Amino acid sequence: MEISVIASGSNGNCCLVEEKDISLLIDAGKSGREIEQRMQRLGKSAEDIDGILITHSHSDHISGAGVLARRYGVPIYASKEIYSESRFKLGDVEAREFDVKRNFKIKGLDVKPIATSHNVSSCGYVIGNFGLFTDTGKVTKQVEDTLPKLKGVLLESNHDIDMVLNGPYPVFLKQWILSDKGHLSNLHASSLLQAKGKNLNFALLGHLSGNNNTPEVVKEAFETLVKRKMDFSVCSRDNESGKWEI
Ligand SMILES: [Zn+2]
Ligand SMILES: [Zn+2]
Repeated sequence: MEISVIASGSNGNCCLVEEKDISLLIDAGKSGREIEQRMQRLGKSAEDIDGILITHSHSDHISGAGVLARRYGVPIYASKEIYSESRFKLGDVEAREFDVKRNFKIKGLDVKPIATSHNVSSCGYVIGNFGLFTDTGKVTKQVEDTLPKLKGVLLESNHDIDMVLNGPYPVFLKQWILSDKGHLSNLHASSLLQAKGKNLNFALLGHLSGNNNTPEVVKEAFETLVKRKMDFSVCSRDNESGKWEI
């Protein structure tokens, strides 16, 4: 299995998961054109996409999903709740709805939705030994229980708590970001990897905030807290990044 991060940050998210001849996008939160170009630079083609899995209805996760689905005749996969909340932004697309509590298959490949905690209906996904968990204000029991079984993860490391508290955002926004329905901090992400990431070969730290985090601050938090041997990488907010194999 090969993982490519097409985009990761509060300004857009899209992750390509390839297993044999199956190519799936988890989220498509950049314009259709931008995702095509970024895939091209990684030697990939948007024509090969077999499905787009949606984590939730926020634009940084679905802004290009409708366009790509229509352009390439690709189905969108979303839970009933996520699809109904995303419908307006997605436009006219073919959607395959699933029950968030059940695993399902796409072309024979097992997909497991994982509960996350956000201010709209949301989930993460496990495909094979890879998991993607972003936009979660707290580490849910399901994420915690799943992590030890994984070989690779893309985990949200959204903000530094002090940067949020001392930053320019209005109080209500700060409270939301730091709440259980907001986003995961560097501290939470690093602590989770230290506690539960014993079998991970790699960890991609993503969905960084543009105002309340920097890649250097993430690295520092990770290196301070995570004593396990693990390949880790901080996802760029501006560029697509490499390929990881499981
Ligand atoms: Zn997001
Ligand atoms: Zn979100």
